Amino acid sequence: MFIKRLEIYGFKSFPYKVSIPFSPKITAIVGPNGSGKSNILDAIRWVLGEQSPKKLRVKELSDLIFSGNNNRNIDFAEVKLLLNHEPPVWETYKDFPEILITRRFYRNGESEYFINQKPCRLKDIQFLFLDLGVNPQSYGIIEQGEVSKFIDLSPKERKILLEDLAGVSKLKITEENTLKN
Ligand code: ATP
Ligand code: MG
Repeated sequence: MFIKRLEIYGFKSFPYKVSIPFSPKITAIVGPNGSGKSNILDAIRWVLGEQSPKKLRVKELSDLIFSGNNNRNIDFAEVKLLLNHEPPVWETYKDFPEILITRRFYRNGESEYFINQKPCRLKDIQFLFLDLGVNPQSYGIIEQGEVSKFIDLSPKERKILLEDLAGVSKLKITEENTLKN
């Protein structure tokens, strides 16, 4: 499974629709400082279900919508992540060779989420990726300057990392949700 394409519209520094193809192997994004490289990673984090403004490097979630100087009125931010799903990893979607995850956020605060064009909840997307050990606490994305932190992990953080890798996190989060409800 790998990312085939990322489509961004109205998100952070992207006022126009951009479609970014990814290679099945390594994709490098290069560009001058401030040109939007990290915003591309933020878009991936966000479409995978990230909710924390800090993690997304904004003060508040409305800052995710493009607000730069151009004459267009951007009402919403939208990110679509197209994944190759051959061979399938999710039983529910085993007949789909591709999975398209869509997240949209409007200025009025409303959000929309879709898996393969079908409306769903944020939770459905988050759980899909928890199955793969990809979640906000996991180390699937390592930020600028985080490599040294990674080396110096505390025993507790190391435990979280190992639980992610072993697929225990999903069970723990399900347990917490059950206890809360
Ligand atoms: P570096 O090489 O320094 O890490 P980078 O390519 O990773 O740079 P980013 O952090 O992705 O750059 O992009 C920063 C730019 O995104 C800033 O110029 C900032 O103004 C712009 N930006 C962020 N949010 C918005 C927004 N909502 N509307 C318009 N521009 C935005
Ligand atoms: Mg950067």
